[in-house]
Amino acid sequence: MTVERVLPTGDAHDLLDLVRDLIGKEVAPRAAADESAGRFPREVFTTLGRAGLLGLPYPEEHGGAAQPYEVYLQVIEELAAGWLAVGLGLSVHTLSCFPVAAYGTAEQRAALLPEMLGGEWLGAYCLSEPQSGSDAAALATRAVPGDGGSAGYTVDGVKAWITHGGAADFYTLMARTSADGARGISCFHVPAGTEGLSFGAPERKMGMRSSPTAQVRFDGVRLAPEALLGSEGEGFRIAMAALDGGRLGIAACAVGVAQAAFETATAYAAERRQFGSRIIDFQGVGFMLADMATQIAAARALYLDAARLRDAGRPYGTRAAMAKLFATDMCMKVTTDAVQVLGGYGYVEDFPVERLMREAKVLQIVEGTNQVQRLVIGRALARDAENAGR
Ligand SMILES: Cc1cc2nc3c(=O)[nH]c(=O)nc-3n(C[C@H](O)[C@H](O)[C@H](O)COP(=O)(O)OP(=O)(O)OC[C@H]3O[C@@H](n4cnc5c(N)ncnc54)[C@H](O)[C@@H]3O)c2cc1C
Repeated sequence: MTVERVLPTGDAHDLLDLVRDLIGKEVAPRAAADESAGRFPREVFTTLGRAGLLGLPYPEEHGGAAQPYEVYLQVIEELAAGWLAVGLGLSVHTLSCFPVAAYGTAEQRAALLPEMLGGEWLGAYCLSEPQSGSDAAALATRAVPGDGGSAGYTVDGVKAWITHGGAADFYTLMARTSADGARGISCFHVPAGTEGLSFGAPERKMGMRSSPTAQVRFDGVRLAPEALLGSEGEGFRIAMAALDGGRLGIAACAVGVAQAAFETATAYAAERRQFGSRIIDFQGVGFMLADMATQIAAARALYLDAARLRDAGRPYGTRAAMAKLFATDMCMKVTTDAVQVLGGYGYVEDFPVERLMREAKVLQIVEGTNQVQRLVIGRALARDAENAGR
């Protein structure tokens, strides 16, 4: 059983058909083997780019597809259902392009976006550091302006946990240009291959092993003045605006992973017999599947609702935090229950549900842990109460 999707236009139907076809042929069949071997499928991103899928929510002028966020997120969901490393990879890439697309000058957009959106380049987003994760504004990587009397910046520091670290073609970097807390952070575009840029060994992760995660080290990296995106001191605001959209990408990934686990569990429960009956006919199992279907549908409705606010140009950050929180907690529960439905067969690699359960965990951590999402939502409620004079 699949949970029905509500799509806005016929074009979106066609787009999703194309995406499902591509996933069925080029993404899903290799997911298990590549995950097991920890192989990064770089060429899959080139294929996605050539199919016009790396720049979906960005303007057509520079190679984007000008799709509503609502449609872009459904593509992410489909990809994540096929292979999380690819769905999340596309979400991180889209996040990495955001500062150029939204805050770049006309020259920067013309110079950078065609290759970012066309599949030639893959991006990474460098915010977290070994000592600053949830408290991102405490980051210590420095970009010293005019160092040595030259124009531009010299960057020193270490970024941690960077998705596509060592595999990306460009790094969107948040670094400190002054000591003034969040107001002292600026955003930069750093091409791979820049002198002084190096990478740690890939982290050995619980799941999503095909997606490289590594430290990115900046050792006297010289950047031209044109590497600055937005104004000096605007970087934290840019980083948070990017994350609002990124969190919706993570919510869509969570719905995709949960949907894949649910479909495996339902098919298995309809086949497997114990005590002379299909296990799906035992109420204990049927209720678990009913809860899964309901929770998945609710999470999908929540991320689509947040996306529609964004598409309408309305504030959507709090709703995005709700969608990320709800969808990723839901995904953890649904994938854990899917393992339960398969019994012993759920715990071995012959079926995908053990992998999906390991993948689900990371979604509760990245782009703001779920405790941080609650902080964001709670602060918005407190602000609203203050504005209402309560
Ligand atoms: C696979 C993977 C990929 C990642 N990719 C990227 C990437 O591409 N770019 C990037 O910049 N970062 C990336 N990250 C980093 C990720 O965003 C951070 O791990 C996350 O923000 C949490 O930071 P931390 O690990 O330092 O945990 P900490 O901030 O040290 O948190 C530890 C625990 O304390 C809790 N906590 C912290 N503060 C509070 C509070 N105020 N109230 C309540 N609880 C709190 C947290 O919720 C968590 O449970 C990635 C991480 C992983 C695991």
